[in-house]
Amino acid sequence: MLVLKFGGTSVANANRITDVFSIVSNLHKKNKKIAVVCSALSGVTDDLIRVSRMAASRDDDYKKVLTIIRQRHLACIRELGIAKDKELLLFIDESFDALADLLHGVYLVKELSTRTLDFVSGQGELLSTRIIASYFNHKKLKSIFIDARKIIVTDENFGAGVVDFKNTNLRIQSAIGKSNTVSVVTGFVSATLSGEMTTLGRGGSDYTAAIVAAAVHAKEIQIWTDVDGVLTADPRKVKKAFPVSSMTYTEAMEMSHFGAKVIHPPTIQPALEKNIPLYIKNTFNPSAPGTYISVNSSDGDYLIKGISSIDDVILLTLEGSGMVGVAGISARLFNALAQAKINVILITQGSSEHTISFAVKPADGMPAKKAIDAAFELEIKAKMIEPVYVEPNLSIIAVIGENMRHQPGISGKLFQALGKNGISVVATAQGSSELNISVAIKREDLNKALNAIHQSFFLSDIKTVNVFLVGVGLIGG
Ligand code: ASP
Ligand code: MG
Repeated sequence: MLVLKFGGTSVANANRITDVFSIVSNLHKKNKKIAVVCSALSGVTDDLIRVSRMAASRDDDYKKVLTIIRQRHLACIRELGIAKDKELLLFIDESFDALADLLHGVYLVKELSTRTLDFVSGQGELLSTRIIASYFNHKKLKSIFIDARKIIVTDENFGAGVVDFKNTNLRIQSAIGKSNTVSVVTGFVSATLSGEMTTLGRGGSDYTAAIVAAAVHAKEIQIWTDVDGVLTADPRKVKKAFPVSSMTYTEAMEMSHFGAKVIHPPTIQPALEKNIPLYIKNTFNPSAPGTYISVNSSDGDYLIKGISSIDDVILLTLEGSGMVGVAGISARLFNALAQAKINVILITQGSSEHTISFAVKPADGMPAKKAIDAAFELEIKAKMIEPVYVEPNLSIIAVIGENMRHQPGISGKLFQALGKNGISVVATAQGSSELNISVAIKREDLNKALNAIHQSFFLSDIKTVNVFLVGVGLIGG
């Protein structure tokens, strides 16, 4: 079984859906067992959430926005040439009637529960998937529409249901995998055991694909998106970034922790447990090789797999002679942060034990300082420890890759690239797994640093030469 997942931009309109059909029908020639998991048409989930909030705040325009969403789906149906499918049109009408009823209720009580929001925001997948299944059949690719609320069981944690794998796996196994019929499955949506609609959380369609694939022991998951795979760096910041041909699950998780939005770590978990490889492919460029993610990756030509970054962080430092050789300081520090529910992005302490620094999101900076200053109040009064020192406007860059393990010279190369470009390093951290070396630098240096590091690790044999011709007449011509 092959599980294919198409994201919102891949099913954005009739043209895109036609491309999806070509991809699926080509693959179907070689793989008879295929499950296709679909997202909502791009932007529809956001629109549905917006409509709900508008209704809850008694903004009458919510009806207009709902009509626009409906028209968008109807236009898509017309352009796909499937407006004769009466059952499909009935499905669309019933869905929007149910939405209108529910939103009217929200409007009246001025209250939007997470339960209601799940019902509304998940309609996008039900609509898109129903349309896609109908189009596949119209094109003579035998398909069945599968409403994932019947196969993915979660608890009542609305907004991000926790999957009950035992029931889910049984249901998936009996619903999917009838030979030669393509199963077209709604992403993102699920239901409780008693049948109440839930969702798997934003971006949850990837997770749907992984859950389905794990349940049927699929041989591969293909995530079809709008980029050529996982890139070596953020292409908006590094023009010369290029797709990585293969990487391990661990590397993919490290990359996505740092903002490379292609896959979310929890998404991979079911696939990882079953060792199911994952392909990231581009619907807009299907012939591009994409990125292959599995247990092993071919070693590749480069020392690292990729560079990722977090744009804006704050570094806090606790410092003082009262910390040296004293047990329990870091426990108290991080306990104070935990109590304040603050997530720590990077931690570093030198062996002199004189300072501990850690990075947090900007919004967490001041609450973190308050919590720690309070926790060390006595030491601060006694001048054994300084009040927390706050350094805003920093970025973190991480170089990532399993090849770095036991490989000397990587940090040398990293720091040399930064040093040569006059970029000073504020803090550094490396886990003992040697999978990731992180550095904090000034935010204003981020783009320059990313490009310098990228150049040094990936493009060292390519030199850029700028040629300028100056003059009038012959030269200008
Ligand atoms: N449509 C949902 C969202 O935008 C789920 C997904 O696209 O993965 O969050
Ligand atoms: Mg999406």
